[in-house]
This record gives sequence, C-alpha cells and structure tokens, in this order.
Amino acid sequence: MNLYSLFRSRFPAEPEAPFLIEPDGATISYAALDSRTARLAARLRTLGVAPGDRIAIQAEKDVAGLFLYLATLRAGAVHLPLNPAYTAPEVRYFLEDSEPALFIGDPARGVGARRTETLAALAEGAAATHFDDVARAPDDLAAILYTSGTTGRSKGAMLTHANLASNAETLREAWRFTAGDRLLHALPIFHTHGLFVATNTILLAGGSMLFLPAFDVGEIVRLLPEATAMMGVPTYYTRLLASPDFTRDLVRHIRLFVSGSAPLSAETHREFEARTGHAILERYGMTETNMNTSNPYEGPRVPGSVGPPLPGVEIRIADPATGAELAQGEVGGIEIRGPNVCAGYWRMAGKTAEAFRDDGYFISGDLGLIDEAGYVRIVGREKDLIITGGLNVYPKEIEEKIDALPGVVESAVIGVPDADLGEAVAAVV
Ligand code: AMP
Repeated sequence: MNLYSLFRSRFPAEPEAPFLIEPDGATISYAALDSRTARLAARLRTLGVAPGDRIAIQAEKDVAGLFLYLATLRAGAVHLPLNPAYTAPEVRYFLEDSEPALFIGDPARGVGARRTETLAALAEGAAATHFDDVARAPDDLAAILYTSGTTGRSKGAMLTHANLASNAETLREAWRFTAGDRLLHALPIFHTHGLFVATNTILLAGGSMLFLPAFDVGEIVRLLPEATAMMGVPTYYTRLLASPDFTRDLVRHIRLFVSGSAPLSAETHREFEARTGHAILERYGMTETNMNTSNPYEGPRVPGSVGPPLPGVEIRIADPATGAELAQGEVGGIEIRGPNVCAGYWRMAGKTAEAFRDDGYFISGDLGLIDEAGYVRIVGREKDLIITGGLNVYPKEIEEKIDALPGVVESAVIGVPDADLGEAVAAVV
C-alpha cells in the first residue's frame, strides 16, 4: 500500500491531462509527473537510499521539491520537509535527530546527514524512466513533519502511508474534488496544509493545480478566474478582502474556498460572503492528526466554527487534567482518535506516551467545545502558541532574544488580535 501507487490508480485516463500549471502557463502532465518521479526515485536508489530512510529537504517552494516528495514515496523512503526559514543551527538539530540518508539543500548545512545534494544536481543525474514503487505496509512511515512544543525540542510527527491516504480520501469526498477541479495552490509545501491537504487531495481526484511560489494578492487576482477551488490560511482571505481588485467577477468559476491552520474570524467569513457570495469552508487539523473536522460542503458553514468531525474521525472534549469526558457544551481539551492520527513522535517515546490517552485518543492541546448541532468550536490553546498569518510562533523563542538585549530584565510575548494576520506578536517588557 504505497501512497503513490494509490495516487497513480486515480490518474486521469488521458496521460496528457494536466497536473501542474506554473504561473507562466507551462503545464506538467500526469504522464510527465509519473516519468519525472520515476527518474528521481531511481536516482535516490543509486544514491543508496533504502526503504525507511529519511530524505530531508530545505528549499524554497518549487515544482522540483514537490516531485521529490512524490519520488520519496515511490522509493519507500520518508519525506522530511524543512521550513526554508529555519536557521543553520535549527537545521542541524533536525538532521541530527532524524539522521537522513540524504539532505537536499545548502551543502554547508548537511551536518548530520549521510549525504548532501542540491535539488538541481539530483534532477540532472536522473536517467531511468521506469521505477517500480516500493511496496509499503499501511503503518510504514511516509513522512516526518516536525512540529514544535512550547517548551523543549521540536518533535517529529510520524505520518504513515495509511494516515495520509485515509485523510486525503476523506477530504476528497467531503469537499467533492473531481478530475475537473483546478486548485489555486499558494501555500508552502513544508507544512501539512499545502503538502497533504492540498496536494494529496488533488492527486486522489486526478485534478490539477495552479502552482504558485508564494501567496501574492496580484497573482491570486490574476489566476482566480482559471481556478475552481482555493485553499488558504485566514490571512490570505483578509488580504484578498483588503484589495479593491478582488471582485465577485473573479470567482465566477470557483466552487470552493477552504480555510484552516488558524482561526478564521466570523467577521472575515461574513465580509467574504458579502463580497463574493461564497461562504468559506473552515476546517480544523494539525500536523500530528491531519484534518479532524470540517464545515459541511452541503449544509450550513457556521462562522466561528470548524464544523463536525470528518467521517471516520472521533472527537471528544475532555478535562485536560484527568482526561474525563465532559458534557456537551462544556469547554475542555479537544482529543482526537482515528486513522488520521499519527503514529507518534520520532524517537521520543516519552513525548508520544504523554500525547495519547490509554484508549488511543490524541491530546491536541487545543481547547474547545461541541455545540448542540455537533459542530466543534475552538476557544483557545492550552499551549500558548501564537499563530500569525498561519505560521506558528513560540513565545519562548522570542522572549529569549528580547531578554538577551541590554537593559531587559524580563519579557513576556503574547498574541494579540490582528485583522490581517489573525494574531500579531506583542512583547511586554
Ligand atoms: P499545525 O500543526 O502547524 O498545523 O498547527 C496546528 C494548530 O493550528 C492546531 O492545533 C490549532 O491550534 C490551529 N488550527 C488549525 N486549524 C484551525 C482552525 N480552523 N481554527 C483554529 N485553530 C486552528
């Protein structure tokens, strides 16, 4: 059960059907996707990558990086994407912790990896055109995505082939993706949202993506008329609304806007609907669990709510201290169980044990309630993480920097509401 083989079983019958469209209009077909990833997977093998080995990549968003993810799956290896903004010491920690067979990125940063290559060199040396996908068991790892705790070291969430396959299938169905869809993809691909929610769902549907290097209002406005769906963090939607160029006429072919990774304010939801006629569909997930809840495709998309649990996902609200389930309507810790939940944290048995209840529920660290309609509402986070423009900021990291400045005795960093970023970072010194 190799996730890539599952994708291939859904490729459009017409091999020249488009998979990716780049901003300049260049199109990469499904046939090209298959042959390019075959070449890359064969190249990985000649470089000594064995099934189960980690392949870490730190690179700016690019088609080649997306293909490396798919080639890694084909080779039976484990994809480990790193935020391009990570500093050299951060990268060093991730490589030493994960011990990859191969690091794709700045050669000066490869300490801890068995071998280092640049993305360009990797693609050049690839000659074969055929590759038999390595057979994988459902519980074999497909990816490790590092997520941070508010204290201590980053943890690698271990995502299996079955985790990713089940969630992508659930989302494809829930959000009605088909081969006729063209997704506007402006999200980063080192994070669960752009990498799995967007890409895997499109691959299972046999649809296509307009693949942008980053979010840019002008580019979104230019390309929206060619898309049928868009996924974004709330900041994308507030920024679009701030632009007078963003008009109802642009979205005439769009059937779905999805938001997640941070709370979408009820105000933005309403303003967006007034401007475009579209009720943004808000969903809730996290690196460790993939997607957990979603407002319905058909039925009310309630502003300020993340909707009911997705099919196959169980959610309960529990007393954070004891784990006892709370009554409907009470606020407590959101706990999740299902085929979507990761296999634990890489080489951190203690942290894994702390994150799960004895009956298998994962403790999300988010606080919320389930309303009378069965919709989940998130009220805050147990961990005091700040999410600004969809990106996680850990107060402690900034406090340490501020505390190191001359004249500072102590500081506290907090998130404050911000119309553009959702939360902005404020420091009390
Ligand atoms: P990450 O693992 O980086 O995707 O961050 C996951 C965290 O983002 C979750 O634990 C939530 O705190 C937050 N999150 C994701 N989606 C939503 C949402 N729709 N509303 C509120 N918070 C969200």
